[in-house]
Amino acid sequence: MRGLAVVAGGGVAGLALARGLVAGGWDVEVHERAAGPPATGSTLGMWPHAVAALHRLGLDDLLSARAVLAARGELLRTDGRVLASLAPRGDVRFVDRPDLLAALADGLPAGVVRWSSPLAADALDDALERADVLVGADGLRSVVRPRVAHARPRPPHQVAVRGAARGGVDRLAETWGRGRIFGTTARADGDTNVYAAFAAALASPAEREDPLGLLRRLYAGWHEGVTATVERLRPETLDVRELHDLPPLPAYARGRAALVGDAAHAMAPNLGRGACEALVDAVALADRLLAAPDVASALAAYDAERRGPTRRVVRASRALSRISGSTRGAPARDAAAALAGRVARAATAGARGHRDVR
Ligand SMILES: Cc1cc2nc3c(=O)[nH]c(=O)nc-3n(C[C@H](O)[C@H](O)[C@H](O)COP(=O)(O)OP(=O)(O)OC[C@H]3O[C@@H](n4cnc5c(N)ncnc54)[C@H](O)[C@@H]3O)c2cc1C
Repeated sequence: MRGLAVVAGGGVAGLALARGLVAGGWDVEVHERAAGPPATGSTLGMWPHAVAALHRLGLDDLLSARAVLAARGELLRTDGRVLASLAPRGDVRFVDRPDLLAALADGLPAGVVRWSSPLAADALDDALERADVLVGADGLRSVVRPRVAHARPRPPHQVAVRGAARGGVDRLAETWGRGRIFGTTARADGDTNVYAAFAAALASPAEREDPLGLLRRLYAGWHEGVTATVERLRPETLDVRELHDLPPLPAYARGRAALVGDAAHAMAPNLGRGACEALVDAVALADRLLAAPDVASALAAYDAERRGPTRRVVRASRALSRISGSTRGAPARDAAAALAGRVARAATAGARGHRDVR
């Protein structure tokens, strides 16, 4: 079928959905509260099912020119000893978020994305009157979600700092200590993508105002790969945020409203799957809307296809986040890290087994 979709949110999920629908002849309005695409941002790991979704959306140029192929990685102790080796299975890439968002938006006709256009809760009735379908792609604190299901983001137990460090790395490395992890991956621009996550109790709100000072304190005495990377960080790139996830929703669609991406299943970042699932959601919903005879059957099919798999990823991400945030001693931590490697391997196997998005 063809129709008009009004989409709240122009992040990964909203822009990918717009691309899929526009390619199939739909009219789409994406309402994004930001003034334009971001100029800076961190790097996203893209698992094979997300890489397939990107091909499907016609982003072959992004993948060939601006995506770094993931090589082997290592899980390390704070003294630098290797706890486990990680070998990416299948086509795993790293893409800088600004590159991904720009590539998704570039393919859309002028006027589809309406920047500086927040969609307020009291504007949703009007949107539903005009549109065939209303989609919440507006992230963790979605204004569309209450139209579909009620759920509150779960309270933070960890804080993440992300940023870029000068100079490159050739492999993924993640170091685990008591209640904190520190990871590096390659960036397409030749710098290093850095992420650190730690138990919220380890950093007061005041300390979070000075992320570089905080990282220097929290990671002092760790192996040189960590401490030297902290000193190479570009302070202007540092982003500090409390991590939340969502409890499982009873539905991803109700009436003519649907949810995609973090609006439906915000998750802890430990498996690097949130944006991946957002892309796969978008392709699935676009396909269903294009193929079904009416919106109701399309949304029911989308819900049936995506709710189960994403629920499992949220659960596995939460488990991994709990393990990595544990403040127990070194032997327990090392056992936990080894277990985490197994959880991660089992959960990421699902990133190949999902829907076939040729
Ligand atoms: C530390 C960290 C590391 C991560 N690493 C990875 C990774 O390696 N791989 C991976 O796949 N995922 C990763 N993620 C997860 C990923 O960032 C998210 O899952 C992804 O951004 C979700 O995309 P989205 O479009 O659903 O939501 P968002 O990115 O939150 O986008 C929502 C958009 O909606 C807009 N918006 C919100 N409300 C309104 C409104 N009322 N009206 C209009 N616009 C609105 C916002 O401005 C935003 O642009 C990571 C997350 C974190 C925190």
